[in-house]
Amino acid sequence: MTEYRPETRAVHVPHPVVEGSRPITVPIYQTSGFTFDDPAVMADGMGRPDGPYVYGRYSNPTVRALEEAVSGLEGGVAAIATGSGMAAINTVLLGLLKPGDHLIAQRALYGGTAGMINELVSRFGVEVSYVPEHDPAALRAAVGPRTKLVYLETIANPMCQVADLPAMCAAARELGLVSVVDNTFATPLLCRPIEHGADVVVHSTTKYLSGHTDVVGGMAVFADDALYRDVWHFAIELGPSPDPFAAWLSLRGMQTLGLRMERHCANTRLLATRLAEHPSVAAVHWPGLPSHPSHEVAAKLLPDFGGLFSFDLTGGRAAGERFMRSVRLALVAPSLGGVETLILHPATTSHRSLTAAELARHGIGEGTVRVAVGIEHPEDLWADFEQALT
Ligand SMILES: *Cc1c(COP(=O)(O)O)cnc(C)c1O
Repeated sequence: MTEYRPETRAVHVPHPVVEGSRPITVPIYQTSGFTFDDPAVMADGMGRPDGPYVYGRYSNPTVRALEEAVSGLEGGVAAIATGSGMAAINTVLLGLLKPGDHLIAQRALYGGTAGMINELVSRFGVEVSYVPEHDPAALRAAVGPRTKLVYLETIANPMCQVADLPAMCAAARELGLVSVVDNTFATPLLCRPIEHGADVVVHSTTKYLSGHTDVVGGMAVFADDALYRDVWHFAIELGPSPDPFAAWLSLRGMQTLGLRMERHCANTRLLATRLAEHPSVAAVHWPGLPSHPSHEVAAKLLPDFGGLFSFDLTGGRAAGERFMRSVRLALVAPSLGGVETLILHPATTSHRSLTAAELARHGIGEGTVRVAVGIEHPEDLWADFEQALT
């Protein structure tokens, strides 16, 4: 290198050589591309997902480590990491559907997904039917000659309906349909949809997988190699790839997923159980409670019931707003799955454009509060909720 001028040497920084040891954590390969001694090797890498690294939009070692980690947890054969959960969902939907195709989705859907399905219908000529997430007979009845895909969520937002994945995925398979399951709320620690027959699992890794409210990311995990290769070829053109640093943050967060999920679930159980007995609370929506309509399905499918729940205040909208202003420890914020407890009043924020009747159709009351329970000490959380209720 010393034969070159400083301008040139500043560009060609020598790489440190690691010999006889290797880093314990995955390094951040903050590079947009890769260089080759043999151009033929580069050509090979551009044509397949499992070839040499070529370009950051195709793959990157840090991103690949995250893909393999999540794919391994979900029991898939391969995965595609993306820059957001919506990017993963859209990559899969756009990569698998064509104009005229028919999609069957469950009624309760994440807002962004519901919006994207409306776009597919209005802009791309896809047709959609909605069925309850626990009803394989309704799924069979909705199938037509152009039906291609079934879209489900393990646990839905904010009422926590749990999909009957074994029944719904089996019906989809029997009918020759691709089943896609959003497993964001459950995480692979509570449910691995591929074990129940799902073909594709999607995640917002922004939430529990990363877990620290510091990164936005997504993932699509595939049960089948041919399906993965199809979507990968589409994805490298669509370009949803994540930044290596974002992938690294997710890898770092994921190491404590097991500990965090245990605490999220235990804290939620305590809050949900105590709130259900509180005089200011009309109802608690958490599938761990026998009163929840999905309790039976959930008890069969899940070892625990997750870290998110909603509850209805007896005082309606005014009580909901008052509760939001009265908490001291819980933070008023969108999102979920991080270590901090976050609360949201759908009627005045995320769903503020809906009338009372429309809210009711979504199962959301004017006094409904959504809680994404963090990993704080449960008694500190309870003390905060109790003071905010009085
Ligand atoms: C947040 C979320 C998404 C969207 O993920 P982003 O990372 O925000 O793009 C999709 N599905 C579910 C269930 C989510 O909670």
